[in-house]
Amino acid sequence: MSCAGLARQTRQIRGGGLLHSWISANRGAIYIPSYGKPLCSSAENAAVGDVDIMHLEQRVLVTGGAGFLGSHLCEQLLERGCQVLCVDNFYTGTRRNIEHLLDHKHFELLRHDVTYPLHVEVDEIYNLACPASPIHYQKDPVQTTKTSVLGALNMLGLSRRLSAKVFQASTSEVYGDPAVHPQQEEYWGNVNPIGVRSCYDEGKRCAETLFFDYHRQHGLEIKVARIFNTYGPRTHPNDGRVVSSFIVQALLGKDITIFGDGTQTRSFCFVEDLVQGFIKLMNTGRDVTGPVNLGNPGEFTIGELADKVIDLTGSRSKVVYRPLPADDPKQRRPDIAKAQRLLEWEPKVELEEGLKRTIPYFDSLLSEDGVKRAIGI
Ligand code: NAD
Ligand code: UDP
Repeated sequence: MSCAGLARQTRQIRGGGLLHSWISANRGAIYIPSYGKPLCSSAENAAVGDVDIMHLEQRVLVTGGAGFLGSHLCEQLLERGCQVLCVDNFYTGTRRNIEHLLDHKHFELLRHDVTYPLHVEVDEIYNLACPASPIHYQKDPVQTTKTSVLGALNMLGLSRRLSAKVFQASTSEVYGDPAVHPQQEEYWGNVNPIGVRSCYDEGKRCAETLFFDYHRQHGLEIKVARIFNTYGPRTHPNDGRVVSSFIVQALLGKDITIFGDGTQTRSFCFVEDLVQGFIKLMNTGRDVTGPVNLGNPGEFTIGELADKVIDLTGSRSKVVYRPLPADDPKQRRPDIAKAQRLLEWEPKVELEEGLKRTIPYFDSLLSEDGVKRAIGI
């Protein structure tokens, strides 16, 4: 198809009120490059130039954008003046997380499952789509692996076609139950390939492999972040992650359930800090591929976390002990020297302050009858 033809087709799509400039008018054939690049090198430039498809803002795709981290990322990108296309199948994410963004002129939402190919026009891709809490990712483990692996393949294919930078939300779970502490990026991990957490751990490891092979084989610009436990407003109230679970239990006056003896450790990063790290990593030069650990190196036992939550909520909940889930890592703390050096990034929000900023969110959420019914209380 000629450039003029493509321009006509693009105009029709825009006029049709569809997802205007995000949609590929002709799969793999039309490119709507970012500001500063030529629209078309042929003699028909003028015809294309007449069409209002120049983009002054960076167009950014966020998969998993209606989830906990994704919704905060969409928000921070909009604040920085980007156009954001949020793609989500609402498996664990909710419209509620992004409701306040729906009227923003630079925000668009597309329901889509990343295990299927996606044809849109963007400049950057953040691939976050994947259930992240053990309860959620173990509910349909085959789908979890598919989301990690096929989702990565589809986003890498899209990125290759568009020559767009692509970011992968990887995880500290790639280190498994780590024998090295704290975890540095050079550590290869200690992962059970056939356990109940493997669908997630191995899925994410395979996604990393794909990212680095696309980088080596096709010269793709990749950014791989290994994210450590993160918490904050918009964590799903019923997904069993420890910070949200303890806060919800404390606010409801229910028993605080510590799995095991509570001596296992985690490092908790406040969401705002983490998302700033994402954007800094995306904005690094071509040579920075990662993997880069992103997390807060402050390390706490789960018992200490329970005490802090009880203290800050003023709850009368008592602590009860339950069996430790299979393959539950005994310790986890990021070595963030690489992020400090390459991104000049480190988290600023201490656990206590982050909890104080998170508790009111759950307090308000739990005052809603619909939410109470949905989480079975
Ligand atoms: P989340 O469950 O809140 O968000 C994941 C989002 O992906 C949800 O909105 C969900 O609906 C969507 N999704 C799932 N499968 C999909 C599919 N097939 N197609 C399209 N959308 C799909 O989890 P989160 O905490 O926001 O995690 C986001 C990403 O960060 C995940 O990739 C996760 O592995 C990674 N991560 C998170 C943490 C953390 O502590 N929050 C730690 C390590 C890694
Ligand atoms: N955990 C707990 N009680 C809960 C939920 C989790 O003691 O109600 C423990 C869990 O066994 C693990 C730690 O808290 O040792 C962190 O669990 P989470 O699911 O938040 O993250 P992950 O295990 O993936 O790091």
